[in-house]
Amino acid sequence: MSTVYPFARPLYVMAKPAGPKCNLRCQYCYYLEKQHLAPSPVPSPEEEGGGAAGSLPSGRFGGGRGFGMSPKLLEQYIRDYIQLQQTPDVLFTWHGGEPMLKPLSFYQQVVRLQKYYAQGKRISNSIQTNGLLLTPEWCKFLHDEGWLVGISIDGTQEQHDAYRLDAVGRGTWSRVVRSIHLLNEYGVEWNAMATANHHNAKDPLAFYHFFRDELRCKFLQISPVVERIKEHSDGRHLAQLFDENCPIAPFSIRPEEWGKFMCTIFDEWVRHDVGEVFVQLFDAALAGWMGVPPGVCVYAEECGHAAVMEHNGDVYSCDHFVFPEYKLGNIRTHGLLQMLYGTKQNRFSRMKKEALPRQCRECPWLKACHGECPRLRFLHTADGEPGLNYLCAGYKIFFQHVAPYMDYMRSELIAGRPASNVMKFGRI
Ligand code: SF4
Ligand code: SF4
Repeated sequence: MSTVYPFARPLYVMAKPAGPKCNLRCQYCYYLEKQHLAPSPVPSPEEEGGGAAGSLPSGRFGGGRGFGMSPKLLEQYIRDYIQLQQTPDVLFTWHGGEPMLKPLSFYQQVVRLQKYYAQGKRISNSIQTNGLLLTPEWCKFLHDEGWLVGISIDGTQEQHDAYRLDAVGRGTWSRVVRSIHLLNEYGVEWNAMATANHHNAKDPLAFYHFFRDELRCKFLQISPVVERIKEHSDGRHLAQLFDENCPIAPFSIRPEEWGKFMCTIFDEWVRHDVGEVFVQLFDAALAGWMGVPPGVCVYAEECGHAAVMEHNGDVYSCDHFVFPEYKLGNIRTHGLLQMLYGTKQNRFSRMKKEALPRQCRECPWLKACHGECPRLRFLHTADGEPGLNYLCAGYKIFFQHVAPYMDYMRSELIAGRPASNVMKFGRI
């Protein structure tokens, strides 16, 4: 496998220490069914032993057996990931499934290993969780170690409980909100990670006001839920990009819903909250207007910003492409460097730009949209070209609507003034 140097982008991997396993049954989840693709291997006695970790204080940790990442694999990952970084800052992201299905002792060992292998680099961690397993002990650890928590919540109780159910079908909102209060009590830094779906799209203001006024949330990531149904013989029921003629899953947000949902939230934000509340899509759009890379891959020119490592060491191109065709290798047998900067991942990265249909290439909003995420490019354009994003019509509504405000904020920033000046102008 050939490798491209120097590195065009930072080396970044999201690790899934508990694999796709989760304690919830969110109806729109795209990851739970990955269990059919990646059955958990039973760690060998040798893997259970660990290397240098075994000689560290409290080197063995609970929860290493059964489903999940073995101690040896964890140690190899942490050592390699730190050693290969070209910058003094190293960010670890712990993702799922539900990463807190691994016990706190697992993450205490993570921190010990990071310190052991740090070599003077600054290490930071983020963990993305549904929040149900948070306890005071967890919060104390997260606070003391300075971890950032991304917590999944979809709005008001009525909005959240429409799809985010536990294993016996009960809503989870009140337990998540209790966990957020616990995070606040312990001074843990957290961001909200919400989805926009066919249900909560009906009331964008109730959604936004809940985050802003009730949770006092400062950073809000809103991801549109879109899935298509396709039954597979192995038990999976969601379609892949190349599957054709698959019906849209009922919980999916429709293109116009997505556009109007984000326009309504934007109108509220642009009048009251610029510089106070950070909404990922608005930040990314402004980055597009300014001609700088956005902080999120879906609005970037190319993919490949964040690979995924499963609990068994398998590495995939992206969280949304955990399919056999996009497997880059396994860290037991392949170097992270070769996998993340090799031919296959570089082809995956470039595919986002190279596969754009003419409609996108000639679109006035290309600078901020870039055809959005390739996983949703299953439509054909009016002249029959494949590769158009399912949410295109919604993005056109949104970008058309925000354009005057983005123009204004851009000119303020260029003049050295704060973008928040846009709030003085009300409706432009
Ligand atoms: S496929 Fe989508 S989520 Fe994955 S890297 Fe590309 S834009 Fe990001
Ligand atoms: S708005 Fe539509 S046409 Fe324009 S870049 Fe985005 S997906 Fe392509």
